Amino acid sequence: MNRLARLFAISLVSMMAMSCAQKSIDVLIVSGQNNHNWPVSHVALQQIMNQSGLFNADVALTPEAGGDMNTFRPDFSRYDVVIMDYNGDDWPEPTRNAFVDFVQNGGGLVIYHAADNAFTDWEEFNRMIALGGWGGRDEKSGPYCFLENGELTCDYTPGPGGNHGQQREYQMHCRNASHPITKGLPDNWMHGRDEMYDSMRGPANIGDLLYSGQTDAATGGSGREEPLVFTVDYGDARIFHIMIGHAGDSLEDNPAMQCVGFQTLMLRGTEWAATGKVTQKVPADFPSCEAPSFRPEYHE
Ligand code: ZN
Repeated sequence: MNRLARLFAISLVSMMAMSCAQKSIDVLIVSGQNNHNWPVSHVALQQIMNQSGLFNADVALTPEAGGDMNTFRPDFSRYDVVIMDYNGDDWPEPTRNAFVDFVQNGGGLVIYHAADNAFTDWEEFNRMIALGGWGGRDEKSGPYCFLENGELTCDYTPGPGGNHGQQREYQMHCRNASHPITKGLPDNWMHGRDEMYDSMRGPANIGDLLYSGQTDAATGGSGREEPLVFTVDYGDARIFHIMIGHAGDSLEDNPAMQCVGFQTLMLRGTEWAATGKVTQKVPADFPSCEAPSFRPEYHE
């Protein structure tokens, strides 16, 4: 190979390497209505995604509550994964159908915190979240689902679905250390101040339970060990459901979302939902089992 040919070959290889490195995962964050502080949460999620260098995250905002939802027709099919940060008015049928088609045809889905409060009467959506809360959910939605002696168990007792105690720092307990999302992370770690959902109800088609937490009956929790982070068994779809991460008052006062543990799980869960793999290393500032660790969403 003469010098010119070799140079050409080298530059071709480096161009290919560059284009591989630059291939990011396309994410659509759906927000715009929520009983939570969605103007903070969707911006924080977008910053967490984009600053990782792995993702290119767009945002689709619905009309405000009571608005004409017929105008909400995002092109889900352009994305590798959708993150749901939405809890609001029902979607029109064509939008629902496009969403179901996306998830059933290989698109990844991330259900974030109060997104599992949404769409109580949409049966297909409830199968995508496995467990949900509030919005009139009760025994008709499916059983309660919690841990008993370390095993998930279903409880068909009648009653409302969805509860949480006072916000506090709490330990996350890993239930499956060999899943790509959890692999290499410490088994137990301290999460920044957050709500801990409990008494959720639904079809309970949990795939892999990844983390649970011990609720505190003294501060309004169920008193049980409850599932908090899991995948959903929904055909061949890859669905990651993360119940933690209640949005704070502002981007700066947002401990549950500034928690490095939360951010790491969002990034790993979203990559897994998009590709089936996790290529991310464990961050050096990951929380220990005694102390949480925080990061602002954005870096100047
Ligand atoms: Zn909340």
